[in-house]
Amino acid sequence: MKVIVLGAGILGVTSAYQLAKAGHEVTVVDRQPGPALETSFANAGEVSFGYCSPWAAPGIPAKAMKWLFMKHAPLILRPKFDVAMLSWMVRMLSNCTSERYAINKSRMLRLADYSRIALAELRAETGIAYDERMQGTLQLFRTQQQLDASAKDVKALAADGIPYEVLDRDGCIRVEPALKHVREKIVGGLLTPKDETGDCFKFTNALAAKAEALGVRFAYGTTIEALDVEAGRVCGVVTARAGNHDRGRERMSADAVVVALGSYSPLLLKPLGIRLPVYPVKGYSLTIPITDASRAPESTVMDETFKIAITRLGDRIRVGGMAEISGYTNDLGLARRSTLEHSVTDLFPGGDVSKASFWSGLRPMTPDGTPVIGPTKIKGLFLNTGHGTLGWTMSTGSARLIGDLVSGRSPEIDAKDLAVSRYG
Ligand SMILES: Cc1cc2nc3c(=O)[nH]c(=O)nc-3n(C[C@H](O)[C@H](O)[C@H](O)COP(=O)(O)OP(=O)(O)OC[C@H]3O[C@@H](n4cnc5c(N)ncnc54)[C@H](O)[C@@H]3O)c2cc1C
Repeated sequence: MKVIVLGAGILGVTSAYQLAKAGHEVTVVDRQPGPALETSFANAGEVSFGYCSPWAAPGIPAKAMKWLFMKHAPLILRPKFDVAMLSWMVRMLSNCTSERYAINKSRMLRLADYSRIALAELRAETGIAYDERMQGTLQLFRTQQQLDASAKDVKALAADGIPYEVLDRDGCIRVEPALKHVREKIVGGLLTPKDETGDCFKFTNALAAKAEALGVRFAYGTTIEALDVEAGRVCGVVTARAGNHDRGRERMSADAVVVALGSYSPLLLKPLGIRLPVYPVKGYSLTIPITDASRAPESTVMDETFKIAITRLGDRIRVGGMAEISGYTNDLGLARRSTLEHSVTDLFPGGDVSKASFWSGLRPMTPDGTPVIGPTKIKGLFLNTGHGTLGWTMSTGSARLIGDLVSGRSPEIDAKDLAVSRYG
């Protein structure tokens, strides 16, 4: 079959690779000049199969009120009259019940666990390197209250059969030796040892090269303007070359189309009557060259106080976090940079912050935290999007699902409740 994949982020590239392996003739279309230049560019680098939960959880509305007024706020809300924003927030709040949380979390864990297996196989099969490490995620508590509150996470991890260790101060220092310099600032931690880390940009680029070797064609610098649908079946896409809008549009034909446009996916689907509740939730990161490795993290440390992830990527520290609800904007606020700098220099001052690069990306968030993977009401049109906070983590399993669904094969895990039809 002729398959067009829309988007060359981590979800588009992993999908294209699996589709090519399944024997399809694949073209990837993206407006950028290369792979992973939008949200997959500089995320926090956690591949956290165990530390994997929806943001919509019981108690979050009350916590959110507190976060909004913190100096180094993990949550920033810039309300405006935007129906999509308001309706997404209402739906997100309606998912903050124990029942919804349990359903959403089990869906995410199923996909994350499948992705763990898929990533290991992909690594073995391709041999690609991406500053990967397999040393776990340490959720770090600065107060006894945070440590006590982690009891409910521990219960959930035990119930889901995910390996974990509750650590005291010395235990944290054993896992992350650089913390010995700041031992008085921490009280304990929760380690999920099976979690991994790695550079999503490097991985996506290396996999795009492998996909190209399998025959995948990449059409960069090409903006997707619309989907071409006739009699309820997708037959291609309408595109425009970057900077070429005046010279008319081009049509590309296909038997199947996979939408992997991240936060921009709902905009393309709306004219077809497909209401995809994905909204951009902005996050920020800093990438800092390491100058003193003895004061840098070994793996990922999640600073629970500021909800900031601090990760070792080769000879760099990546610090990422914050959730800003402000629509489709990538502007870089200095206050956000100071929050990231504060968290990293307080715990791991082993990098040269003056040489750091500052970045923002739009997480494609669903209100229930679970991505949207599967068919739509339009024949031949599939979605692989809405991966929110954990798109890098869940990419390899999501791509394998899409490879099977597009090829008409039964997926290896249950995928029915991941499709857009779950929203009714
Ligand atoms: C600060 C931050 C930290 C994060 N940390 C982690 C983490 O530690 N671990 C983790 O698992 N996840 C993390 N994430 C989430 C993860 O980065 C995303 O879920 C993932 O990158 C989404 O990938 P995607 O392929 O869906 O979207 P994207 O990477 O945004 O790809 C979509 C592509 O579509 C293209 N596109 C869009 N519209 C058009 C159009 N009209 N025409 C042509 N092309 C178009 C874009 O150019 C882009 O290349 C983080 C995100 C942020 C912002």
